[in-house]
Amino acid sequence: MSLRTRIQLSITVLLAILLLIANITIYVMFKNASIKSEQELLQSTARHIIEELHKEGNGTTEEVLHTYLISDGMIRLIDRKGESDLNLTRENSYKKIKTSFQNDQFEDVLTFNGSKFIMVSTPIIHDNGSIVNLQIIQNADGMFSNLQDLKGVLIFTSFLVIGILCIAGWLLGRVITRPIHRFISTMKMIEEEESYQQIEITKSERDELNQLGMTFNSMMRKLEDSYLKQEQFVSDASHELKTPLTVISGYVSLLKRWGSTRPEVLKEAIDSIESESARMKFMTEQLIQLASAEKLGEFAKEPMDIVPIVSGTIERLRRTYKNEIAWTTDPKRIVAEIHEQSFIQLLVILLDNANKYSNDVIQVELQEHDGNVRLSVIDNGPGIPEEAQPYIFDRMYRVDKNRSRKTGGTGLGLFIAKRISERHGGSISLISKEGHGTTFIVSLPISEVQ
Ligand code: ADP
Repeated sequence: MSLRTRIQLSITVLLAILLLIANITIYVMFKNASIKSEQELLQSTARHIIEELHKEGNGTTEEVLHTYLISDGMIRLIDRKGESDLNLTRENSYKKIKTSFQNDQFEDVLTFNGSKFIMVSTPIIHDNGSIVNLQIIQNADGMFSNLQDLKGVLIFTSFLVIGILCIAGWLLGRVITRPIHRFISTMKMIEEEESYQQIEITKSERDELNQLGMTFNSMMRKLEDSYLKQEQFVSDASHELKTPLTVISGYVSLLKRWGSTRPEVLKEAIDSIESESARMKFMTEQLIQLASAEKLGEFAKEPMDIVPIVSGTIERLRRTYKNEIAWTTDPKRIVAEIHEQSFIQLLVILLDNANKYSNDVIQVELQEHDGNVRLSVIDNGPGIPEEAQPYIFDRMYRVDKNRSRKTGGTGLGLFIAKRISERHGGSISLISKEGHGTTFIVSLPISEVQ
């Protein structure tokens, strides 16, 4: 069922039920009130009759009842056997209205010959001392015909209002679903054209549909952004791989021509081919690392004490690094939920950079802060210019392409580091000032299992 039909149906059905309940209540209440008021009138007549009967010198019961004769009704006395003792009416057929004797006062609505009658009955003492029922019966056709009219009016207005509701529900459904249809057609177009088109937003920001549109637009922007980055990455990666391949193939041609006759060319070519292939190997390794960092969500993470992991990694690296590494830890044990190899990879990326780009002691600090563990890698190197900082974690971004190339950089390290931090539910940031060194801070949530 379409959304429009659902809106239309729910509005119509709900309001129709409410309307019917309201109309039925009005009718029943009005009918009861009308009958009650008629009965009260008859009861008051009965009270007057009883008062008159009690007064001395007013004549016989029949004479008193005669004075209260009803134009379209009947006054009668019923004995214990249910037989009528006295019937006073202008309409003889009314005498056939059946009734019975009651010990207490009671009221009723009777039907006779297709007509409706209101009846009240009160026990009184008759002239002969026996107890009889004084019954006053009044034709109520007029009142019931008014009630019938009211019923007709209520039924008619119910149908009229339900009809109006149907139209209103249909219009409302159209108004509500129009922007949705617009969204759907734009989305279909986007799907067909494989473009990243935005949905046109016209109304106020508070509108939920507008918010939906804005969310869609922002999703589209992110998708487009990620697609462009992907494209950029493929072109950067192929460019990066092409450079060493060009160098290698150049040297291979050189070797073909001069390799057998000029030994100095042979050495230079072999050295260059060796260093360029090492670079290519490093780059492909980083690309593989990147793929596994992307997959990290699928790897099992376990709560582990990261202090020995950090100290062990530093020990191993110390032997190969040109720079000293000094390290401190605040707590002696910090348990975080990590994938060990990825965490080591993250630490190595930061330490490698500090070793590559600085010539002084590298400082590593472990601290606890606000339920997080903070791993800081601090160097006294050249720092990162402020304008480069927003892009530093982007794929293949390098501040100084020449310097980075000389140090064997690919621009993938920090991107991988960021991915690993995020996949651990943490974050990575930096504090750096050109000429004053750089601090990279990784923050990961501390595990609840200690
Ligand atoms: P790369 O393989 O080029 O080092 P990274 O992603 O690790 O790639 O780093 C990106 C860029 O950030 C580097 O090219 C370098 O310019 C800069 N950078 C990273 N770490 C440091 C640091 N500790 N000091 C100065 N610059 C750095």
